[in-house]
Amino acid sequence: MADVMLHKFDAVVIGSGLAGLRAALELSRRYNTACISKVFPTRSHSGAAQGGIAASLGNLDDDHWEYHMFDTVKGSDYLGDQDAIEILVREAPDVVYDLEHLGVPFSRTSNGRIAQRMFGGHTLNHGEKPALRACYSMDYTGHVLLHTLYEQCIKHHTRFFSEFQALALIIEDDICKGCVAWDIHSGGLHIFHSRVLVMGTGGYGRAYKITSNAHANTGDGLGLVMQQGLPLQDMEFVQFHPTGLWKQGILVTEGARGEGAYIKNRHGERFMSKYTPKLMELAPRDMVSRSIQQEIDEGNGIDGLDYVHLDLTHIPKATIIERLPQIHDLAFNFAGVDCFTQPIPIQPTAHYSMGGIPVDNDCHVVKNAKKVTIQGLYAAGECSCVSVHGANRLGTNSLLDAVLFGRRAGRSALADLSSIEWNDLPDDPRRFAQAEVDWILNNRGDQRVAYIKHDLQESMTKRCGVFRTAKDLTDQLTFVRELQARFKNIKIDDKGMIFNTDLMEAIELGHLLKFAELIVAGALGREESRGAHYRKDFPKRDDANWLKHTLAWRKPEGGVEFDWRPVVITKYEPKERVY
Ligand SMILES: Cc1cc2nc3c(=O)[nH]c(=O)nc-3n(C[C@H](O)[C@H](O)[C@H](O)COP(=O)(O)OP(=O)(O)OC[C@H]3O[C@@H](n4cnc5c(N)ncnc54)[C@H](O)[C@@H]3O)c2cc1C
Repeated sequence: MADVMLHKFDAVVIGSGLAGLRAALELSRRYNTACISKVFPTRSHSGAAQGGIAASLGNLDDDHWEYHMFDTVKGSDYLGDQDAIEILVREAPDVVYDLEHLGVPFSRTSNGRIAQRMFGGHTLNHGEKPALRACYSMDYTGHVLLHTLYEQCIKHHTRFFSEFQALALIIEDDICKGCVAWDIHSGGLHIFHSRVLVMGTGGYGRAYKITSNAHANTGDGLGLVMQQGLPLQDMEFVQFHPTGLWKQGILVTEGARGEGAYIKNRHGERFMSKYTPKLMELAPRDMVSRSIQQEIDEGNGIDGLDYVHLDLTHIPKATIIERLPQIHDLAFNFAGVDCFTQPIPIQPTAHYSMGGIPVDNDCHVVKNAKKVTIQGLYAAGECSCVSVHGANRLGTNSLLDAVLFGRRAGRSALADLSSIEWNDLPDDPRRFAQAEVDWILNNRGDQRVAYIKHDLQESMTKRCGVFRTAKDLTDQLTFVRELQARFKNIKIDDKGMIFNTDLMEAIELGHLLKFAELIVAGALGREESRGAHYRKDFPKRDDANWLKHTLAWRKPEGGVEFDWRPVVITKYEPKERVY
């Protein structure tokens, strides 16, 4: 193995999506801060976000943070923690104005204010009618946010380590002292010694075959935390976005429906009228995805196949050009469809992870249901579970979550830095990562990483998707464990350390296989239907037994251990969700 480099930074951030950059910006203003990212910062998945970021600015209607709170709680199927949700919705306007002042070029209303549009599940006055709440920049919202925050971090001298893959956290006696990362480009192993470390490592859509997520979204952060014997929370809740391009999964933003697009089956019927007559296509994602899947399963897909139509043809061309130009190009380039005149073929696509690394409201990573924290370790954005999204996230609440809790993680780490001293590193911190790397490089099995990954993705989409049953989940749990066994027998061809994508993918697959077990075991255990988790054999929500968060540990000897944590309810008692 190449030489080891040692770095010392007060603060280290892993991940340069919106959560990581916002935390890094906060910390860089005062402390020596490093930001490590597997991809070049502006290639992080946040940059692919299209539709918008939620805040009750009320620029175009009479919005209020309480309406936003009600919608988020109801959207979460009452699993979201209401104290955390209140923080999210109350701070949202300040976060958006802060972004505006940092230089984000938002689309504008005719009188120069930040423009806002409709999104699924966002309503005025507790469900009365759709709210104009999503602040956007055409359909490039994530792109402009990411570039602006990156520029700001450069301005404040964040030290970037791009194309560095974090391999292990260094945690001893519940104190995080830094991490080990591999410089993918030149091959060395680097030790980052830190007083505080923020994880902003994003989601894991790549556990599924049909997904809207970037190739890098393999949930590494979850794997790193699991390596340390820490739990993950609510992993059974995986969001399927209703409108992925057929076969490809590439996202067609909900902003298209926000601008008035229809969803139609083979009979040309706007079938959402059967499922959510009030909000129609603007119902929350879990409901729209299920409705589409049900139509497909009943043979109402286009030509009886596994897709339906997203129809924009009645929307004026000028509106599409002004507000949805990327959608036009994506449909044209990837589906060969001109959306001015033709409907876009779509199907549900794995999109977002509601579950993740459990944290308290100030982003400290916690190690159990009693919320005991790990000193110096924070998480924010999609890799974390606060939980503001509960069982189902509303569109535009995730950019908000990433920026808002990224800032909050930065601020809470800043506050803690005044009292956290330097802790000595263990004797050979390399050992936290080296054994695994050596094992992957030298293992002489007969299994290929790409095939195992393919089998995992395909089976997760098939058996742990929009609809779930005990039989499918039991089969899938067995299958994931078989894949884990096959993984022990892998062989890779490239034995070097420089730009070894074989090695990179093997490490990522190791993470995917570990937390996929928690997703499936959690889904099998939760015998109810709530939000994005729908059990055909338990179609009702069961508040008496399941109004609680799941904490799941992978046991070293194999198998999964569970504990549960109550949901925080402050303002809204659980009710039936009708839209
Ligand atoms: C196509 C698409 C469209 C979306 N549109 C919207 C929208 O309009 N509105 C909305 O609210 N939400 C949207 N979302 C969701 C939202 O974009 C994401 O949830 C959010 O941007 C996640 O931000 P993040 O900072 O947590 O993670 P990411 O942006 O995914 O960044 C993760 C970072 O972690 C780094 N990383 C990961 N593993 C490692 C490792 N081992 N070592 C080093 N670095 C690592 C990566 O390099 C990357 O920099 C969309 C998502 C997708 C996929």
